[in-house]
Amino acid sequence: MNLVLLGAPGAGKGTQAEKISERYGLVHISTGDIFRENIKKETEIGLLAKSYIDRGELVPDEVTCAIVKDRLRWKDCKNGFILDGFPRNLFQAERLNVFGHIDGVINIEIDPKLLMDRLLGRRVCEKCGANYHISLLGGKTVCEKCGGTLIQRKDDNPETVAARLKVYEAQTAPLTEYYGNKKGILMTFQSTEEPPEALFREIAAALDGKFKK
Ligand code: ADP
Ligand code: ZN
Repeated sequence: MNLVLLGAPGAGKGTQAEKISERYGLVHISTGDIFRENIKKETEIGLLAKSYIDRGELVPDEVTCAIVKDRLRWKDCKNGFILDGFPRNLFQAERLNVFGHIDGVINIEIDPKLLMDRLLGRRVCEKCGANYHISLLGGKTVCEKCGGTLIQRKDDNPETVAARLKVYEAQTAPLTEYYGNKKGILMTFQSTEEPPEALFREIAAALDGKFKK
């Protein structure tokens, strides 16, 4: 089963992708994580990506598509993958059409009023990338999965968040129509103030129903 996860920044894509990947044995491919890994290691891709990410803009399509195309060729993708943060515009979706087969698209909708709090309150593990919200940490500053230090992402500041939300509206949101028009592969869910487990139960029920063995 090959999946795409769509949703605004702050909708909870990363958290759901982790849970889905675990339950169904899918490789979790997050383009944002790949870029952040490259920035940390100061690779050529990292240096290029950083300037765009810091401004809340998309990294150029050619670079992003090449990374994903290459990653999907790894053997571990044979048993299925979940793409988190790709495609992010129509160009990328058309390219993905050529180099990858997609069985389902999970679209997470969220009330825009919740987004700022989610993004500005987000803390991420420096080591493994796990996401937390400051309101649920109870003062803890380390990752409960790996013990890594929790930090705030550099692009989780009000200016960059505003730019990311604009990019999402203009370029990524139209993908729901794009996939909606394609042989019924789109599944839409609402992200609420409920804990992420509630949303995951809904997603898992839909996937179990749709992709019964
Ligand atoms: P979020 O969904 O919270 O914005 P991501 O980790 O998915 O976070 O992405 C962070 C940044 O990485 C984006 O703002 C963008 O600059 C870059 N990026 C991630 N995925 C893509 C993509 N498919 N195409 C272009 N840029 C991307
Ligand atoms: Zn961690």
